[in-house]
Amino acid sequence: MTDLDADSALVMFSGGQDSTVCLAWALERFARVETVGFDYGQRHVIELEVRAHLREKMSAMRPQWAQRLGDDHLIKLDALAAISETALTRETAIELGANGLPTTFVPARNLIFFCFAGALAYRRGAGHIVTGVCETDYSGYPDCRNETVKAMQAALSLGLDKPIVIDTPLMWIDKAATFALAEEIGGEALLDLVVEHTHSCYLGDRSRRHPWGYGCGECPACTLRAQGYVKFMSRKATRA
Ligand code: ZN
Repeated sequence: MTDLDADSALVMFSGGQDSTVCLAWALERFARVETVGFDYGQRHVIELEVRAHLREKMSAMRPQWAQRLGDDHLIKLDALAAISETALTRETAIELGANGLPTTFVPARNLIFFCFAGALAYRRGAGHIVTGVCETDYSGYPDCRNETVKAMQAALSLGLDKPIVIDTPLMWIDKAATFALAEEIGGEALLDLVVEHTHSCYLGDRSRRHPWGYGCGECPACTLRAQGYVKFMSRKATRA
């Protein structure tokens, strides 16, 4: 049995700010990069819709990126919708719970994503999985913690009987530093792409444009993104 290709990566790509920066990060490092998205009946499918658009724009950004960017995979996980709180409590509105997470939140969602990403990486021969999970702006998802990811990496490597690496380039940096990383990797063009075309808002609002992009401006995802952008811009001003 040959090992998985250490120069090939599968990026968990939702179309959000973090996973877009991760895709750019991977395109700089790996000879072959594929993307995977999960469709689990989100009320707003906007993130999934912006994915293709972002991939196209990033391909056009650099010839090398176009060469490296391979297939996109969309995995339908209807079972997740069935165990979301919204489904279980028969609520119709997406609300933010006391923990600041949307009530559609599915416990262990990322663990489930990692299993499917691992299965797909194996089939595609990719030795790396890249994900934008982050402990710094820890927003209550225990399955985004570094320890959880390391445990998952060990479990997948054992369960697949092939070493597989889960890369988390954003694990220890905050949202402001994520904007800075976008600029560092792809200059103004990538920064503009991240602001204009990625989507973070929990409520799926793309009707309001703020300096940091589109969103309701009030949900935890928008708040985090807005604060990160302000901090990024002020750090930039200080440097200049
Ligand atoms: Zn929002």
